[in-house]
Amino acid sequence: MAQPATPASSGGQYPLSQEVLWRAYEHSHEAVLVSDGNNRIIAVNAAFTRLTGYGAAEVLGQNPRILSSGNAGPEFYAAMWEAIAQYDFWEGEIWDKRKDGSLYPKWLCISVVRDAAGQVENYVANFTDISASKQAADRLAQLAYHDALTHLPNRLAFESQLEHALRICSRENRQLALMLIDLDNFKNINDTLGHHVGDTLLQQVAGRLRESVRASDLVARLGGDEFVVVLPEIEGPLTAARVADKIQMALSENYRVNEHLLYTTPSIGISLFPGDGADAGILLRNADSAMYHAKSVGRNNHQFYASRMNEAAGERLQMENALRQAIAAIGLPESCQFSLHFQPQIAAKSGRVVGLEALLRWNSPIFGNISPLRFIPIAEETGLIQPLGDWVVWESCRLIHELRRLGLHDIRVAINISAQQLRHENLLLLVRGALACYELEPDAIELEITESTAMQNPEMTLNILDQLAAMGVKLAIDDFGTGHSSLAYLKHLPIKCLKLDRSFVSDIETDANDASICAAIIALGHNLGLELVAEGVETEMQSEFLTRLGCDYLQGYLFSKPKPFAEIVAYLQAQPPLSA
Ligand code: C2E
Ligand code: MG
Ligand code: MG
Repeated sequence: MAQPATPASSGGQYPLSQEVLWRAYEHSHEAVLVSDGNNRIIAVNAAFTRLTGYGAAEVLGQNPRILSSGNAGPEFYAAMWEAIAQYDFWEGEIWDKRKDGSLYPKWLCISVVRDAAGQVENYVANFTDISASKQAADRLAQLAYHDALTHLPNRLAFESQLEHALRICSRENRQLALMLIDLDNFKNINDTLGHHVGDTLLQQVAGRLRESVRASDLVARLGGDEFVVVLPEIEGPLTAARVADKIQMALSENYRVNEHLLYTTPSIGISLFPGDGADAGILLRNADSAMYHAKSVGRNNHQFYASRMNEAAGERLQMENALRQAIAAIGLPESCQFSLHFQPQIAAKSGRVVGLEALLRWNSPIFGNISPLRFIPIAEETGLIQPLGDWVVWESCRLIHELRRLGLHDIRVAINISAQQLRHENLLLLVRGALACYELEPDAIELEITESTAMQNPEMTLNILDQLAAMGVKLAIDDFGTGHSSLAYLKHLPIKCLKLDRSFVSDIETDANDASICAAIIALGHNLGLELVAEGVETEMQSEFLTRLGCDYLQGYLFSKPKPFAEIVAYLQAQPPLSA
């Protein structure tokens, strides 16, 4: 192998022997390539052979161009040679090709050695493989711009991509839709089955979202259970609505995570560029209001932004604050804004009142009387359902005690329980404590849980339900028929009673389907040894029909609307005595 050229000047350092220079060159970890004034290779070191796969004999006399990957264009090389001509030095990143054809990035420094007359004598190039550090940098970029769980772009990447898309839309006079997607009840799943299950569910949601839209649409995860989809090429709101429908269908299909079969649905808020906002910040804020609106009108739907939604979101916040204040004052009877109303449950065969359902009422100084359908979801989202639900149990037991004191025995009171209450062993202590405090037998109360609650967190629910049942508390599934549960699954729960949802009952006279669903549920429920309660019975005909099908108990406006305690006492006292 040729000896490397000796630099023309030693730069003011101690003169080094040829021997030392040779060793430094040959043992260097950096690849070194020396070419002559015509850029023909005259020497390469051992590191060069290790890195490129070419032995010295294969490259001597050749132009270093043989290493080129072809990735860089002529302008790149022109700029490089210009710098070399001007400064006798160039350094930068470049992709080269090994002998085996594989490409790699290298950091290359080229110095020029001139003779006394200023003619180029040699070019000395040294370089290192920077694949590893490049990979690390790429990984860092991946981490900074991607959500590690779902591999979707994260908020940072989303913001810059949205800005970019908006610039193009504005230049080309196009419309864009931004959809904010929040999963309903995801918190329940996460809290009850654990983060691991929640994480897997989010990954599946991300996959379904990606599949529901075109490759050119942007899908990102903003954090938690919040996703965003940007459609940069829409003709108008209708296109966005169609995509939202598709997303809704895809996300509402059940999910299998380990042994769990899970359900979640999306609430989607949509804002449109340019109508609903000219920049990313405003579009996001407006999609957010629209998403809250979607939640407040019952979840699992999509809503477009309209400026009045800001008002609705403001109202929701105001209601949450009012609810907090009302709960803080719950212990002061004179300023308590909550009360319980009671609705009778009638034995279908005898027509006698056998029980009451306790239904929460809130009389707010700001909002007036508000339906539990409006404030219970807010209490559930904010965790306020815990203290509120505790109060309902205590107050129900207090009033049952009062009924007993008035001689009204054998009336069982059904209490509605939210999913979150079922997640805590607290519920057991609460029920035990309240029953003991008012000297009641466990069968004085019945707990109603909705079908979706029972399905959401089977293990935790089962454990707590088993303990409640073992205590002797009767358990019922509320709003049966609205969820996705199967009777086969419910068989494993220690429940005694199914409450057939009002929506089936209301149409039995006009809808043959609903009539046959009612008949089937009653028959199957009985087969499993369960009692059946029909909710929302409003007409004689419904009552007769359900009685004929063998429904055990009936509840609805036909018999009585929910009444305040004093009125329900009068109602019960007006019932004919047993012997009559
Ligand atoms: P739910 O448990 O299914 O209660 C039955 C609802 O149907 C009550 O509405 C009741 O007034 C209404 N209803 C009863 N009979 C008829 C009828 O013949 N026709 C019609 N159209 N409606 C009838 P309400 O009192 O507005 O309660 C709504 C929901 O709020 C309840 O549904 C329950 O899910 C929830 N809720 C009420 N109180 C509580 C509570 O203390 N805790 C919890 N977690 N939820 C509660
Ligand atoms: Mg109920
Ligand atoms: Mg119900």
